Amino acid sequence: MQLLDGKKVSQAVKLELKGQVAALIDSNKRAPHLAAILVGSNGASETYVASKIKNCEEIGFKSSLFRFSENVEENELLETIKKLNVDESIDGILVQLPLPKHIKESSVINLINPNKDVDGFHPVSTGKMTLGLPSFIPATPYGIMLMLEHYNIETSGKNAVVIGRSNIVGRPMSILLSQDREYGNCTVTVCHSRTKNLKEKCLEADIVIAALGKPGFLTADMVKENAVVIDVGITRVADQTKKTGFSIKGDVDFENVASKCSFITPVPGGVGLMTIAALLKNTYEAYLTHLK
Ligand code: NAP
Repeated sequence: MQLLDGKKVSQAVKLELKGQVAALIDSNKRAPHLAAILVGSNGASETYVASKIKNCEEIGFKSSLFRFSENVEENELLETIKKLNVDESIDGILVQLPLPKHIKESSVINLINPNKDVDGFHPVSTGKMTLGLPSFIPATPYGIMLMLEHYNIETSGKNAVVIGRSNIVGRPMSILLSQDREYGNCTVTVCHSRTKNLKEKCLEADIVIAALGKPGFLTADMVKENAVVIDVGITRVADQTKKTGFSIKGDVDFENVASKCSFITPVPGGVGLMTIAALLKNTYEAYLTHLK
């Protein structure tokens, strides 16, 4: 079994970006600039946004955080996005999800200028990605693709099972893996809460992507020998032995599954770090198009 080390791979991605940015700044160009919008004070969202901003700083990107209270009016958010859309100093706009119930996520996401849609959630990005055209790819599936590439994992002709069909993880992941592209060409089965015989489907999979948000869901009896297992899940589980009062659990019963796998991602230290690396890559791509 080999660990797919998100720390190592994300560091490599970030190091490359850092060098590219340093070279551009040496030639008197401005730094790439990411705008992050955070609504409310959800602990996990706060942590993710703080980490994205810290990572921007580490590699020489500029970042701006726009914070709003939990009860902000939708219109105020939309007005902020309109301003960021036309602000030439901003390359990428990310809105940390989930948003409070009274705000329609699609109204917010769909207003983002597709040229600054570094999270890749805008319908234009989704459409282009689906057609195999150059586009921003949602950061988590993109990060997973970078991981497969880094470890040169054979995907062509393999059976892949993606558990979860959300617009931000499962659905785009299934599309990418099924496309005629490098690290694609899989035969993909998308599973969800209505799927019957999920265990049997997983047992046929050479590659399993677990993205459902149920800690420890994928157990050893659901995984065939030498499978590649990618754990997307991040759930906070109460843990009094930790200072924070919680620990982070993935969707895979890592302890028992790992020994059966050819490759597996740990949680933490796997997909989460790759997601941030992919977001930075998208921001850099947006920046390059804005420089032209
Ligand atoms: P989501 O929107 O809640 O979607 C979950 C999906 O899992 C849905 O399609 C749901 O099916 C399916 N599902 C739920 N229970 C199931 C079951 N028992 N059997 C089969 N399928 C089931 O979640 P998400 O946003 O995609 O996120 C999934 C997980 O990934 C969460 O833990 C989240 O925190 C994590 N995540 C991690 C990263 C990262 O960077 N590592 C990034 C994003 C998300 P239905 O469609 O039928 O409801």
